[in-house]
Amino acid sequence: MSDYVRIFDTTLRDGEQCPGATMNLQEKLRVARQLAKLNVDIIEAGFPIASNDDFEAVKTVAGEIEGPEIAGLCRCLEKDIERGWQAVKGAHKPRLHLFLATSKIHMQYKLKKAESEILRQAVEMTKFAAARCANVEFSPEDASRTERAFLAEVVEAVIAAGATTVNIPDTVGYAVPWQYGETIAYLKNNVKNIERAIISTHCHDDLGLAVANSLSAVRNGARQVEVAINGLGERAGNCSFEEIVMAIKTRRDELAVDTQINTREIMAASRLLSQITGFPVPPNKAIVGANAFKHEAGIHQHGVMANKATYEIMTPEHIGLNAEEIAQSLVLGKHSGHHAFQKRLVDLGFSLSDDELQKALVRFKEVADKKKIIYDEDLQAIVEDVVATGVRPTYTIDYLSVTAGSHQIPTATVRLRKGTRVKELASTGDGPVDAVFKAISKITHVKATLVDYTVRSVTSGREALGEVTVKVDHKGKLHTGVAASTDIVEASAKAYLNCLNRLF
Ligand SMILES: [Zn+2]
Repeated sequence: MSDYVRIFDTTLRDGEQCPGATMNLQEKLRVARQLAKLNVDIIEAGFPIASNDDFEAVKTVAGEIEGPEIAGLCRCLEKDIERGWQAVKGAHKPRLHLFLATSKIHMQYKLKKAESEILRQAVEMTKFAAARCANVEFSPEDASRTERAFLAEVVEAVIAAGATTVNIPDTVGYAVPWQYGETIAYLKNNVKNIERAIISTHCHDDLGLAVANSLSAVRNGARQVEVAINGLGERAGNCSFEEIVMAIKTRRDELAVDTQINTREIMAASRLLSQITGFPVPPNKAIVGANAFKHEAGIHQHGVMANKATYEIMTPEHIGLNAEEIAQSLVLGKHSGHHAFQKRLVDLGFSLSDDELQKALVRFKEVADKKKIIYDEDLQAIVEDVVATGVRPTYTIDYLSVTAGSHQIPTATVRLRKGTRVKELASTGDGPVDAVFKAISKITHVKATLVDYTVRSVTSGREALGEVTVKVDHKGKLHTGVAASTDIVEASAKAYLNCLNRLF
């Protein structure tokens, strides 16, 4: 299996650390289920010691997701490893991922420890972890800026202590491809017991080189790549899942390696993550951008029609985009029955409880009244809107009315329900959406600052569903709310309320 590259997905850990990408438990589970469909080798589900929420998320993913190994991140401290083990031990295939910085700058200023102390701590804690879990990954943090000789010494010592994967992080995104590749080759040639462990890469995209650096590492012997969907992550993000997987698939002639990823689930994964985090995918993004497979220039179109391979190096079908399938998906309308509706949801991968199904059906009929054809994308938005947000609503909208026009001050009247109580207030604003937000803020007494507001059309056409994403800052923490409706003012109100409901 020397030509087999493991895909270690850290969307739920490193990706989620990105400001504004915080996910709740239900959202993490949905991402984890999609990662299992993608057939990833390892899911890093979180950093269990970081908070009780993180611990619960890792434990739940470990208990519910079958197939991939489930990893939890730990500092090189007994309490971290103990907590990490409690979180992952219920998994079919648990993994503990330890990290400790080894670069001079990190040891001196952050940890204030000498090389010998770092080495001892790495070995002791690897042994401590290996006594609990047979599957231990060790990461010398900031490895790309660590002196090679010391890096080799640490790697050899942790393998001897029981590490089965050694990850070489480019924590700050500083490496360039040939130098990073040489570091991997150096470890292969200078660490006596290196054959007993898998070498892994973990690259950040500060210089836009994360994918290139990871490929260079693979070329030099790395057999695990750490990635995140849509390249999500702190700062410029992590190595992009879709880019490295499709590069390996498309250029097998050069790389002579393979992954076990079901690439047809890539597009669904990208959309799901974008929907949950509210981070749009730029149209020119490689692989998953809206324009990635569009040929606009006449000369290109002519070539593609004559033979696709003239300008197309991979096909949209490879990532789960199929023009015919999309055209055929307009299966549901106002008169579609309960069974057709339920079947389509199952085909789309949703498993709803009876109660959730009922709620989704009611919402579906409402939308179908206004919009003749319901596409798969609409269905997805409807279900996500109604049932899958994982937030138990404290407030719901009972009534909403907005007046606006060229010679009027925009005014919104909103009535919210909280349990059995209702409260109604009116407010003016700079625009209809602003007026609605102000009225909701007055009723709920929440002081939150609107940071971001985006509207996206779920499908095309005049009656398309509008999906609104709202991000608010509340006491220094970012919260995201999403909602869809054919009426964007209503979608805005719901998205804003969805956001506030997360605070309660
Ligand atoms: Zn990272």
